[in-house]
Amino acid sequence: MLNRLKISKTEQILFKGAVTAAVLLAGIFALFYGIPCPFAKMGVPCFGCGMTHAFRAALSLDFSAAFRANGMFWSVPLLWAYWVADFRLFSKKAVNDGFFAAIVVGYVVDYCLRIIL
Ligand SMILES: [Zn+2]
Repeated sequence: MLNRLKISKTEQILFKGAVTAAVLLAGIFALFYGIPCPFAKMGVPCFGCGMTHAFRAALSLDFSAAFRANGMFWSVPLLWAYWVADFRLFSKKAVNDGFFAAIVVGYVVDYCLRIIL
């Protein structure tokens, strides 16, 4: 995806490393201090709502609480790997598309369940 910008492989690695470090720092900050969701403050939850609570629970090995907070917390490392691999985590395009579609469907189903339940 970054190749469309005509940047070198080294620049791609540096960019992805910088983004990964920034997201990790934001995640660590969120784990300690919390980051309020602007959508939730307006009364509408988003697909990521509960993610901080889910990671806190998962890190303390309380996976039941983690799934109740946000059932798709487990997909975040996979989505990161997918992005790092230039959206070609698997060699076959159909497998890549199916993998990504399954995660998107998972987020939609989890979102609907959290709203209904
Ligand atoms: Zn949210």
